[in-house]
Amino acid sequence: MSENKIPYKIYLEESEMPKAWYNVRADMKNKPAPLLNPGTLQPMTAQELGAVFCDELVQQELDTENAYIPIPQEILDFYKMYRPSPLVRAYCLEEKLQTPAKIYYKFEGNNTSGSHKLNSAIAQAYYAKNQGLKGVTTETGAGQWGTALSMACAYLGLDCKVYMVKCSYEQKPFRREVMRTYGASVTPSPSMTTEVGRKILEQHPGTTGSLGCAISEAVEAATSTPGYRYVLGSVLNQVLLHQSIIGMESKAAMDKYGIVPDVIIGCAGGGSNLGGLISPFMGEMLRGERNYRFIAVEPASCPSLTRGKFVYDFCDTGMVTPLAKMYTLGSNFIPSASHAGGLRYHGMSPVVSQLYHDGYIEATSVEQTSVFAAAEQFARVEGILPAPESSHAIKVAIDEALKCKETGEEKTILFGLTGTGYFDMYAYEKFNNGDMGDYIPTDEDIMAGLKGIPQFPGNEI
Ligand SMILES: *Cc1c(COP(=O)(O)O)cnc(C)c1O
Repeated sequence: MSENKIPYKIYLEESEMPKAWYNVRADMKNKPAPLLNPGTLQPMTAQELGAVFCDELVQQELDTENAYIPIPQEILDFYKMYRPSPLVRAYCLEEKLQTPAKIYYKFEGNNTSGSHKLNSAIAQAYYAKNQGLKGVTTETGAGQWGTALSMACAYLGLDCKVYMVKCSYEQKPFRREVMRTYGASVTPSPSMTTEVGRKILEQHPGTTGSLGCAISEAVEAATSTPGYRYVLGSVLNQVLLHQSIIGMESKAAMDKYGIVPDVIIGCAGGGSNLGGLISPFMGEMLRGERNYRFIAVEPASCPSLTRGKFVYDFCDTGMVTPLAKMYTLGSNFIPSASHAGGLRYHGMSPVVSQLYHDGYIEATSVEQTSVFAAAEQFARVEGILPAPESSHAIKVAIDEALKCKETGEEKTILFGLTGTGYFDMYAYEKFNNGDMGDYIPTDEDIMAGLKGIPQFPGNEI
């Protein structure tokens, strides 16, 4: 090992911390397509979006020009509670794999919510509070986003109503109680409390819900309750903007030690951590300054980038949201109930989708048993018990490191370790008992989902 060994963990000093978010759209030649009003098929105006989202967040959603958006002091103060997050050199994993590759991971699980979602939760709650709102509504699947938002709302004194996908509500009672501990109200979705929930229950009695259903309910609750707006934990441009803090800190930490990654890997559900992690590096690539390989990793059971279509689709099952142009499996696609690894969303961030479409990002899909095997391999040497979602990135980082072992290349790999998996022990139990299977949708399953995509001229699948 060289004399000036890179520290096991790289932390930034307070003075080195990013003071602005980076908006990668400013450097994209092909901007992500605008959200459309599903009634008129015209781009959503700020006024229309303002009925659902906070005003400042609408501005951020529509801003494709400003590369840097200053982070308000109150948010910087909150970030200080758990940031900077460490950039860790995975020496133990490298040793275990006997690879010449250098592996780094940016660990976002060091806060009570256990994931990167808090980075955007505090920003969205802050703008809601600033606008004088009473509260916000949202959906949560596995529970990390709901937990993060509950924490942010508690800190700012905002009311928080969470619609939690019913199967998670039942399988993850402790997540639910963490949210209630932070003062949020948690309703299993679909529920009888909204019109769209009642309709979904009528059409699919006994359904255990999906993120798409919960989004429909949360949007309805926000738009029908004065003083409330809806907030979303992934997919949207504003969320990627807030998550750019992950990439900016990573880049600052790497620059400090003269480290340049060759490959950057992130798991992709709605695309927010991946988009945030790669943003500043992608900016360099888009400006022609440097080249990187970016890899999005998704579950084989919910493969929106690798098997979906790049078209306009609803963001929810109840078809109450605007249309977003993205890689999608269709808004009524629901992954198999046997899928335990998270990342269950049918669509993908329009920014990530556009970059993938334009060839700047590669995508790959992995099966869940290989993901849990990678998670355990990682946990045993690096100590951290990873979230199943994050473990998709671990799996591909290990694969890349093993390729380097074959070729002898000393590549530098950076991946996003988005969170911890303490609330996913049922899934780990299934894996440890050998009861976990791999479910890959058939072409017919995929086709059935794609048929639900709205058809209009220029939007054929
Ligand atoms: C929500 C979540 C993800 C996936 O969401 P993205 O928007 O794709 O980043 C990944 N990892 C963890 C731990 C999460 O909570």
